[in-house]
Amino acid sequence: MLSSPQIWKDFFETYYRDELNRLADAMEFGGEKSLHVNFVKDLSIYMEGKLGEELLESPDRVIAHANEGIALTENIHDVSLEGCKVRFYNLPASRRVLIRDLRSEHISKFVAIEGIVRKVTEVRPRVVKAVFACTKCGKLVEVIQEDELTLKQPYECPACKNKRFLFLPEESYTVDSQRIRIQEYPENLRGGEQPQQIDVILEGDLTGKVNPGDRVIVNGIVRAKPRKFGSKQSQHMDLHIEGNSIEILQQEYEEFEITEEDKKRILKLAEEENIFEKIVASIAPSIYGHEDIKLAIALQLFGGVPKKLPDGTEIRGDIHVLLVGDPGVAKSQILRYVHRIAPRSVYTTGKGTTTAGLTATATRDEFDGRWTLEAGALVLADKGIALVDEIDKMRNEDRSALHEAMEQQTVSVAKAGINAVLRARCALLGAANPKYGRFDKYTPIAEQIDLSPTLLSRFDLIFVLTDEPDEVRDRKLAEHILKTHEIGEKLEKLRNVASVEFTKEEIDRESEIAEIVPAIEPELLRKYIAYAKRTVFPVLSEEAKQKIVEFYLSLRSRAKDNSAVPVTARQLEALIRLAEASARLRLSDVVDREDVERVIRIIKSSLEQIAVDPETGEIDIDYAFTGTSKSQRDRILILKRIIEELEASNEKGAPEEEILKAAQEEGIDERKAKELLRKMREIGDIYSPREGYYRIAVK
Ligand code: ADP
Ligand code: MG
Repeated sequence: MLSSPQIWKDFFETYYRDELNRLADAMEFGGEKSLHVNFVKDLSIYMEGKLGEELLESPDRVIAHANEGIALTENIHDVSLEGCKVRFYNLPASRRVLIRDLRSEHISKFVAIEGIVRKVTEVRPRVVKAVFACTKCGKLVEVIQEDELTLKQPYECPACKNKRFLFLPEESYTVDSQRIRIQEYPENLRGGEQPQQIDVILEGDLTGKVNPGDRVIVNGIVRAKPRKFGSKQSQHMDLHIEGNSIEILQQEYEEFEITEEDKKRILKLAEEENIFEKIVASIAPSIYGHEDIKLAIALQLFGGVPKKLPDGTEIRGDIHVLLVGDPGVAKSQILRYVHRIAPRSVYTTGKGTTTAGLTATATRDEFDGRWTLEAGALVLADKGIALVDEIDKMRNEDRSALHEAMEQQTVSVAKAGINAVLRARCALLGAANPKYGRFDKYTPIAEQIDLSPTLLSRFDLIFVLTDEPDEVRDRKLAEHILKTHEIGEKLEKLRNVASVEFTKEEIDRESEIAEIVPAIEPELLRKYIAYAKRTVFPVLSEEAKQKIVEFYLSLRSRAKDNSAVPVTARQLEALIRLAEASARLRLSDVVDREDVERVIRIIKSSLEQIAVDPETGEIDIDYAFTGTSKSQRDRILILKRIIEELEASNEKGAPEEEILKAAQEEGIDERKAKELLRKMREIGDIYSPREGYYRIAVK
């Protein structure tokens, strides 16, 4: 073996002189205690890369040499670097191993593992060298500790053979220790595979550096430990990584390599007249219709521009979309499809599949009882898109956390020893079913789905998918579904039967005619989106701004006595975000009039589905989000006046019969009046001192 402390001293003094001086300086003030060695840049050229090779193959011995070597080096501050650790980063790509590909051959080797941090434990001291005192003769005995749950005791006192000892924590040597769990990137999984995970043990100055949701490369040694069978050990081993260094990845969509060839294809696509239609036709082509929704999703995939204002305020660029509707209208299918094409996405259901649910949680670790912070779907989808099916069924803890996650794009966890703010910069595409089975267009959606008004109002766009019989549409839908199935059947036959009456080419042509192949193949679309998000930052043009203000004012002006709120500043911001996304999709640096017009069409179609008061036909945002329309509020005011008047002349309170009669005279029929009375009691506007009588509640 080439490696020795002397060789490492030479290496450090040749390539890392400045760093040694800096390290020595920092050491004096109790700072950093690690020297970071760039593998590819320096180690792979030193001695024709032989020392590097040895590190990868025999990391235990070679790292020990390196750590001894650093203590031998000299520096201008004349500070001893004894106890400093050497950390190696930027390993050659050939040493990158997927978590799912880890095998026996990797045990005790140095590898690089890339993934997303799913869990972190608290940082706690771990005893590495325990000191015990013999209870009989008092002799001190040291025992080196492996990373185990229990403390290893000396077998017997070397002096008096006694077998009882007292542990001396103050005399023992500890290091900070933390366990993290990383899991494969969601985007690297295909077809509903479960992401695989691996634990990483971090010690010393590596601890406390990463948060759940971070994307990292861990460089370290693969360790195997037998599983426990009660008190026995199994032949089967569990793997973990002993971390030597950790790199936190910053750049967005770093994992996407876009070649010059790709770039040419992307730019050419963006030039095409019908690029919007093409992208819409690339989203869930097997789903018939729903073009509005597909366009909204397309814009969501590109996203608006996240901004930091001069006063420090951060504004999200991510667009949140909610699909509400009858069962069986393809909501889940749409979500699953988006999961397949989005560059970064996490798919989950409201009920959640992990303890962390949608957001994040702190729990006691099942292994060693340490507090553990675990990321949920929205944190794992940071800088991507979270697809949440049956979002109305989410847990209560998630409901409150979701407000923060959707607007501030963070998730705060404060529990026991854990106090953390995690990033959740993702777009949310949710699907919800109506509470009562089917959607009723005469009842506001707020009353029909289990989501609070404040949560609903955080969605930039809400679409309602109803399943009403319509002969023309039904026929087309049926034909489309039949064609899809027929093509699927033929493909299966081709795959399984030796001689068939048709060719693959014929089926491909059929699929194309039936428009069930995506217009742009998913691989290219993903790159297109990643490219746009990385390089295009459009700015509003004068014309666009004017157009937006016009639209906003035209809606606002419908609210004369300012009790009906047609739209709020939230919708205005949604409009801007969507218009930016539209410009981004065209790879345009400028948000033009055409972007605004396109977006107004979608916003109108969304508002018309959820915010039109069926009585007046006017757009009324309160109707959508709180379930109380302007016309309803007017009637509530009338009823209140009636009750007040009747109360004054009746000792027992306003009699229901007389309220109903007076209401009738003001044009409110009995059924409506009764329902409003019930509602007013629910809200606490009135109360009933005795059966059949009402009083105004004192506020
Ligand atoms: P939901 O989640 O809305 O209850 P699903 O996504 O589970 O509905 O859809 C039910 C089935 O009906 C799926 O197999 C889906 O492909 C099919 N389906 C519903 N609407 C359409 C449509 N417009 N085009 C093609 N298939 C559809
Ligand atoms: Mg469903």
